[in-house]
Amino acid sequence: MKVEDVEVSTEHWIGGERVASAQVFDDVSPIDGATIAEVARGSRREIDLAVAAAKSGFQAWGRTPPQERARVLHAIAAGIERRLPELAAVETRDAGPLLRAMQRSVVPRAAHNFHHFADHLSALEVPDFETRGHRNHVRWEPSGVVALITPWNAPLMLATWKIAPALASGAAVVLKPAEWSPLTASLLADITHEAGLPPGVFNVVQGLGEEAGAALVRHPDVDRISFTGSTQTARSIAAAAARNLTPLSFELGGKSPFLVFDDADLELAVTHAVGQYDHAGQVCLAATRLLVHRRLYDAFLARFLERARALRQGDPRDPATDIGPQIAREHVARIDRFVQTAIGRGARVALGGGPNEELGGLHYRPTLFVDVPDGAEILQEEVFGPVLTLQPFDDDEEAIALANGTRYGLAAAIFTQDRARAERVSQRIVAGTIWVNCFFVRDLRAPFGGARQSGVGREGGNWSFDFYADVKNVCTAPWNDGAGGS
Ligand code: NAD
Repeated sequence: MKVEDVEVSTEHWIGGERVASAQVFDDVSPIDGATIAEVARGSRREIDLAVAAAKSGFQAWGRTPPQERARVLHAIAAGIERRLPELAAVETRDAGPLLRAMQRSVVPRAAHNFHHFADHLSALEVPDFETRGHRNHVRWEPSGVVALITPWNAPLMLATWKIAPALASGAAVVLKPAEWSPLTASLLADITHEAGLPPGVFNVVQGLGEEAGAALVRHPDVDRISFTGSTQTARSIAAAAARNLTPLSFELGGKSPFLVFDDADLELAVTHAVGQYDHAGQVCLAATRLLVHRRLYDAFLARFLERARALRQGDPRDPATDIGPQIAREHVARIDRFVQTAIGRGARVALGGGPNEELGGLHYRPTLFVDVPDGAEILQEEVFGPVLTLQPFDDDEEAIALANGTRYGLAAAIFTQDRARAERVSQRIVAGTIWVNCFFVRDLRAPFGGARQSGVGREGGNWSFDFYADVKNVCTAPWNDGAGGS
């Protein structure tokens, strides 16, 4: 079928073929609430087919020389680059990100994920080391079938961030994309096919989490599970994985702090603080708890409100739009429940505080709470919408305590012009990523992941290969064949 004039299959992709299901689910666009596709609703049957196809595809792919795997990955990247306009248009219609962000950064980054992990294959090396004359040699061996489960908020980016290292490592993939934004995964299947990836090495099963997702994570022939999504879903996946002792990697939710010290560059800090509304706040890393030194508090608040009030909500395809819609009406209602609960607890709304009905109710107004009582839910739970809180602090100790005061530990941002303070505070904050005087700067060689309930394990660089591959040590005694060495 056609979405934004692009031909997109709504069937699964299994063993190099399109496969239909008896049942379908509706794919609704966040732009106008229209049903844009009826997508195959996979269940245990399709998961069994896909895992069997991946198992068979793995036989040859796992033995394919790394240079050849890298060549195919570069071809996939080239396919993504070639089809950039289509991928951008379809994902914007399907999930609501700004079209210009898709074109300028998201699709190029999806291609880069493949280029990067293809190149990284040749950099995977631990120097050999000796133990009493014995030589230790570390190898990354292909592991088998990997199950990848991704959320709706950044479908193409998050899928490719997992698929690329999994394929590079020699594994075969079964991807279960999110049911709220399933379409670019289907285009990706076409692209892998066009790039010459053998049948069965990459499979996509569409469907609902409790059906297709649950069947995939409990499958005994799955060798790895990599999941990005909510902390709540992670618990049920961990329970299913426990039965087969399947190794897992989790990238979960967050409630990241944004610390502004009294020596900070105020304008820089405000720019990045307002940036937390990007993608309508549907970003796992979003630093939604603004913690500002009391001396700067009033100036920060005034400037923040001025900048945030200038943000334009609208159609994400319009170049003048700063903030697009939320993913679905149910999600708008969920965000609003958090907001109403916070108001009920006595938090004061300094900005926004409800859906933008003038735009049809799928946009939530950028919202800021001040004077929030200690312990309020809004300071603890991930809203996953454009809702920020602002709290003052008096000294570094209090800032660190507030920053660490949730069950999450995904990221943090620190604004200060004092290097020693930046060093001290970044050591003490519990988070997988800390940005000092910046935000969202990402290098694929860097580890990415969360502490506490924000995740298990790290992705990026060697860390991805450590997870998707079986790391093996070959320890060899000295040879007695006269050639010398071990
Ligand atoms: P979700 O947990 O509801 O769903 C994620 C995926 O899991 C979907 O594909 C869904 O179909 C599937 N799923 C649901 N139940 C399942 C089950 N029982 N078994 C197997 N699969 C199941 O999350 P969401 O609402 O799609 O995404 C938002 C969440 O994702 C937020 O918490 C956000 O912070 C998190 N997230 C984290 C990162 C990160 O890198 N840390 C990135 C993006 C989003």
